[in-house]
Amino acid sequence: MSTTHTPVLVVGAGFGGIGLGARLRQAGITDFTIIERTDDLGGTWSRNTYPGAACDVPSTLYSYAFAPNPEWSRKYGTQPEILAYLRRVADDFGVTPHVRLGTTLTAARFDEDTRRWEVSTDRGDFTADVLVSAVGAFAEASIPDLPGLSSFGGDLMHTLHWDHDLDLSGKRVGVIGTGATAVQVIPEVQRVADEVVVFQRTPPWIVPRLDRAITAVERGLYRRLPLSQRATRAAWYGAIESFGLPGFVNTAFRHPFEALGRLQLRRQVSDPVLRARLTPDYMIGCKRAIFSDAYYPALAEPNVELVTEPIDEVGPTGVVAGGALHEVDVLILATGFTALPALTEVVSGTDGRTIGDRYRERPQSYLGVANAGFPNMFTVLGPFGAAGNQSAVVMIEAQIDYIVDALTRVGRSGISRFEIRATEQDEFVEEMHARSGRGTWLKGGCVSYYTNGSGLNSGLFPGWSFEYRSRTRRWDADRYDVQHERRGAATEGAGR
Ligand code: NAP
Repeated sequence: MSTTHTPVLVVGAGFGGIGLGARLRQAGITDFTIIERTDDLGGTWSRNTYPGAACDVPSTLYSYAFAPNPEWSRKYGTQPEILAYLRRVADDFGVTPHVRLGTTLTAARFDEDTRRWEVSTDRGDFTADVLVSAVGAFAEASIPDLPGLSSFGGDLMHTLHWDHDLDLSGKRVGVIGTGATAVQVIPEVQRVADEVVVFQRTPPWIVPRLDRAITAVERGLYRRLPLSQRATRAAWYGAIESFGLPGFVNTAFRHPFEALGRLQLRRQVSDPVLRARLTPDYMIGCKRAIFSDAYYPALAEPNVELVTEPIDEVGPTGVVAGGALHEVDVLILATGFTALPALTEVVSGTDGRTIGDRYRERPQSYLGVANAGFPNMFTVLGPFGAAGNQSAVVMIEAQIDYIVDALTRVGRSGISRFEIRATEQDEFVEEMHARSGRGTWLKGGCVSYYTNGSGLNSGLFPGWSFEYRSRTRRWDADRYDVQHERRGAATEGAGR
């Protein structure tokens, strides 16, 4: 197969890749390629098509600041609407022609002689001066290691691979998991299925969602007076940011948030036994708190059974939990995503180890955008670049602007190799771990994907997103080893 050279190769056409493409074009950088392994743009929003899939951050905030959308039909955009928005941004900003769909990266290594990435895909090879991973954090389905799962004789699907041809009406449906995805999917399944059995390992904290339609008057106002939508965005930004108070500032701040959660439970579940089984025994924010007004009422419906006994095994006809067999026709795994996307296992650094190898030592990166040992590479939403208390899009945009600034200066200064210094990265990672121990993310008394197997912060930025924004406002080239020429005629220094 032929090898194509592209100055910038971006992997992933979701919020990260499309946003980066748009901002690159706005900055006058038009020679780049985005590869996307699926057959559509949209990343997680093209893949998660389960019923009820929607944003759990108000769409005014869960959208690019550089591409506001006055047309959201609801406070929380639904999956089809968010996907349509992303496709529109890709078209409007000229990103679509840069995207090669159905192209999976299978290996990548940095060639020190050419100072280029050599990238293999299932649709031909690339060389690239700069590689950007924008694959996101939730890329692969996590299939639970339950004894007998493969022996199940009914229909089995993970929420990431929803089978829309499967009619659930009149069926007995089991759902394993009660995280953000399950909370959206269960009310939808409850409406059509005959019986629903929910297998809960840990009850989530649920807070009011207060979804509503955006009126035509509001939409008209947003269209004619964009400042009004900016003000709404700013208000939501502040409200959601406040979840950082219990998350990483101090666990004492959890009380008002827990009061909201308890109020929701009391208001929506009248049966004291069910209420007790739904009451979390850990601090709010230890796992992601979930916004929902539909979940508790669905669980209280007569065709829903909540099973809290641990799952023993799965058999041909159903799930055995606490010694009792619960027969189901369909089993839905709402069990989340693997800790590391597949890409992290196939991109090798200068010492031959992959991003995944390094991460398993301990979660690390510099600002979630760079990694020592991976020259000429940036990541979007890398470790410590994700927020537990803010719209992911806010963090993504900060990273995109940092990368665009870097690429602009790399191009302007003729920089051929840049790499974050290991000492700078170590200092940053130490700071991240040191700042993580005060709030509910780590001290909340639960097990979640916010922590790794050793109880360390798995990669959330333990600070305010405006602090993160300020730290990523410009490419801090003085923290990088920078070389200006091709090997043989190298001059070293900071890339200004
Ligand atoms: P998740 O938060 O990881 O939840 C997985 C669920 O499966 C948990 O309830 C977990 O129980 C349960 N589980 C996993 N393995 C199990 C096992 N072996 N036996 C029994 N139960 C098991 O995954 P998710 O709900 O898909 O959400 C992942 C993330 O995606 C969210 O936190 C959010 O960031 C994102 N998301 C966003 C939206 C949105 O609206 N924007 C919607 C959905 C998801 P434990 O709690 O006991 O581990």
